[in-house]
Amino acid sequence: MSGPKEECGVFGIWNHERAAEVTYYALMALQHRGQEAAGIASVDGRQMYNHRGLGLLTDVFSAHTLTDLQGRGAIGHVRYSTAGSNTVQNAQPIPFTTHSGHLAMAHNGNLVNAHALRVLLERQGSLFQSSSDTEVVAHLLARAGYPTLLENVQDSLRMIKGGYALLFLADDQIIAVRDPFGLRPLALGQLGESYLFASESCAFETIGARFLRNVEPGEVVVVDNQGLHSVPPINHTKRAMCTFEHIYFARPDSDIDGWNVHSVRKQLGRILAAAHPAPGDIVVGVPDSSSSAASGFAEYSGQPLEMGLIKNKYIARTFIQPDQSLRDAGVRMKLNSVRTVVEGKRVVLIDDSIVRGTTSRHIVSLLREAGATQVHVRISSPPYRHPCHYGIDTSAKGQLIAANHSVEEMCEEIGADSLAFLTVPELMQGFGLAEDSEYPFCNACFTGDYPTEVYEIGKLVDEIGIQGVQV
Ligand code: AMP
Ligand code: SF4
Repeated sequence: MSGPKEECGVFGIWNHERAAEVTYYALMALQHRGQEAAGIASVDGRQMYNHRGLGLLTDVFSAHTLTDLQGRGAIGHVRYSTAGSNTVQNAQPIPFTTHSGHLAMAHNGNLVNAHALRVLLERQGSLFQSSSDTEVVAHLLARAGYPTLLENVQDSLRMIKGGYALLFLADDQIIAVRDPFGLRPLALGQLGESYLFASESCAFETIGARFLRNVEPGEVVVVDNQGLHSVPPINHTKRAMCTFEHIYFARPDSDIDGWNVHSVRKQLGRILAAAHPAPGDIVVGVPDSSSSAASGFAEYSGQPLEMGLIKNKYIARTFIQPDQSLRDAGVRMKLNSVRTVVEGKRVVLIDDSIVRGTTSRHIVSLLREAGATQVHVRISSPPYRHPCHYGIDTSAKGQLIAANHSVEEMCEEIGADSLAFLTVPELMQGFGLAEDSEYPFCNACFTGDYPTEVYEIGKLVDEIGIQGVQV
C-alpha cells in the first residue's frame, strides 16, 4: 500500500485477571518499536473494550482508561508510521465485527499485496475506514464464510503476502500468526496460567513472564481457556527473518529466533574491526543503538571505547519528522558531543546503519566542531540500497544515500576521513553463518533480493482465485 508503512510492536495475553494492565506494561518495553500511536483491546466474554490514541503510551492511557479495559484477554499495539498517515483511525488494535462476533486485530509488518487486495475488496463493496494494511485483513476475515475464527483466519492468510506478526482477539480466544518467511518476529511466553505473545522477548522480562519459544514462521497459535494449540505451517517456505531487527530495530535485551540482539551487534562490531580497521585514538558509538557494536569494535581492536556522544533520551527518533529541515533539527536536538573526550583525538565512529545519511553527516560535523582531528566512520551493516517492503520504514529509494552513491561518494557526503561497511557475508558471520551456507535471513535492503514478489491485481486474481471479480 502506498500510504503507511508500519514498524510496530504487538502484545497479547490470555487468561489474566489484569490483562489490560499487564499489556500496558509489556507495551512499555516495546515502545521503541513505535511512538506515534498506541492502543489496547480487551474482552470479558460478553463485551469487547478498546482504547487507542496518538502518542506514547503515557499520553494515551491513564489509570482510569486502563480500569475500563476489563476482562481476562487483551491485545495491544504501539505504532510507528510515516508522516501524514498518523490518524486515530490507523491506530490499533482495529476493532471490527464479523458474523461470528466482535474482533480486534493488531499487526506489525507490511503486506506487499495490500493495495491489490484493497482494490478487489472495494470493487466487491467493502467500505474502508482507514488507510492501514491491517484493515484489508479485517475485510478478508469478515467475508470468509467458515464456521470458526481459526478457519476464517487461515482462509485470509492464504491471500495475504508480505511480512506480518498478527494478533486476533475474540470473545473466547487469541489467535497469533507469523508470516511464512518469519520476516517479522513474534515470541510466545507464559506468566502463571496465562499465555502471552510479544514482538520481542524483552516484553516478557519486564512483566516477570517466561519466554517459551518463538512463534515459527507460518505457524498459527491459538490460546483459549483450554490452553495452547498450534497449527504448524502447511507449506514449508525458506526462512527470511529480518536482519535489520538485529542490526537496529530491536532492543538489545531481546532474543530473536535464537540470537540475542546485543550479542549479535557486539559480534558485528568485532567483525567490523577485523575486516575494516581504522586508525583512531578512541572508539565512539552512536547512542544508543550502536553501543553494542562499538563495544565489540573496541574490544577487538584494543582502541579505548569512549563516551564521545550523549543522547537526549526525551527526543523521539528523527525518522518521524516529516521533512528534511525538521529532520535535521531533530538530529541536532537529539545528540551532543563531549568536547573534553574528543578534542585533539582521531575518532573511530561506529553506527549501525546509514539510511539517508542525515545522522552521520551531522555527527561527523559535531565531532569536528568539538575538536576531533579525524573521523573514521565504520558501519555495522552493509550499505542500505533498497527500500523495505515488509514493515521497516526507510523511505523511498531516491532518499537512500547508498542507492545512488558509491562508498567514496558517501564518505565525501558525510564529511568523514574514511568510511567502511560490512559486507553481507560479514553480516551473516555475525550470526555464526558460513559464507557458503543458506542464510535464513532477509537481506533485501542490502541486496535487492526480496523473498516475496509484489503482487499486481491481475496476477493476484489468477493466483488466489477470488471469484466473480472483473479486473
Ligand atoms: P539516516 O540519518 O537517515 O542515515 O539514518 C540512519 C540513522 O538512523 C542510524 O543512526 C540508525 O541508527 C537510525 N536508523 C536506521 N534505520 C532506522 C529506521 N528505520 N527508523 C529510525 N531510525 C533508523
Ligand atoms: Fe528487514 Fe531489510 Fe528485509 Fe526489510 S528488506 S525485512 S529491513 S532485512
